[in-house]
Amino acid sequence: MKPLIVAIDGPAGAGKSTSARELARRLGVPYLDTGAMYRAIAVAVLDRDVDPQDRAAVETIAEAVRIELSPDPAGRFEVLLDGAPVEGRIRTAEVGKASSQVSAHSGVRARMVELQRAAAERFGGVLEGRDIGTRVFPDAPFKFFLDADPSVRSERRQLQLASAGQSVPLGQISADIAERDHRDRTRADSPLAADDTYQHLDATELSADEVVERMLSVIRS
Ligand code: C5P
Repeated sequence: MKPLIVAIDGPAGAGKSTSARELARRLGVPYLDTGAMYRAIAVAVLDRDVDPQDRAAVETIAEAVRIELSPDPAGRFEVLLDGAPVEGRIRTAEVGKASSQVSAHSGVRARMVELQRAAAERFGGVLEGRDIGTRVFPDAPFKFFLDADPSVRSERRQLQLASAGQSVPLGQISADIAERDHRDRTRADSPLAADDTYQHLDATELSADEVVERMLSVIRS
């Protein structure tokens, strides 16, 4: 039997991570935050003082480093960069911006997609990102596109950054998110986009629990 794969795509700050983590727990499959993989590449690029927009240099780094997905006891795939966990280093505004720049390079995407497919084909998973239902698993039985009003998304991102110890003004977060979404939606390779194979959910007025309940009711029906 094929393991269960659920795709959750959408723009920054729509609440994908919280919902995806909880949905995975409820379904008993691992959770994979694919954005963390692009963030890990961004860290590797910034560590080497390379411009994230320098395609050739970034693709060389993405080839050279080792990104691993290690299933952890909490039921999620932990992202390792050259053997070390990256979670403590990737949740900054600087890495967020650089991750969107490095993710526009096709060589980077090809490597990440390969790793995502290998992990989820083996273990199943709730995969969260921008291109899960369009490119990584276009035939996934369940695809959700989670969106919310830009102001709500900015406030959520501000809370996330605050919980990672960073206080960033709301105006700056809104501008960063708008720039990142624009880049993610307009890049040539695997732009963020939803078609009618997705179930669309607007999380503006829904709690994470309500989002999960709606997803579960679609999956159960
Ligand atoms: O989801 P998160 O904000 O952590 O993602 C960081 C960046 O990684 C996004 O802005 C996007 O550019 C990129 N990304 C992507 N494809 C994915 C997941 C993330 O291009 N599947």
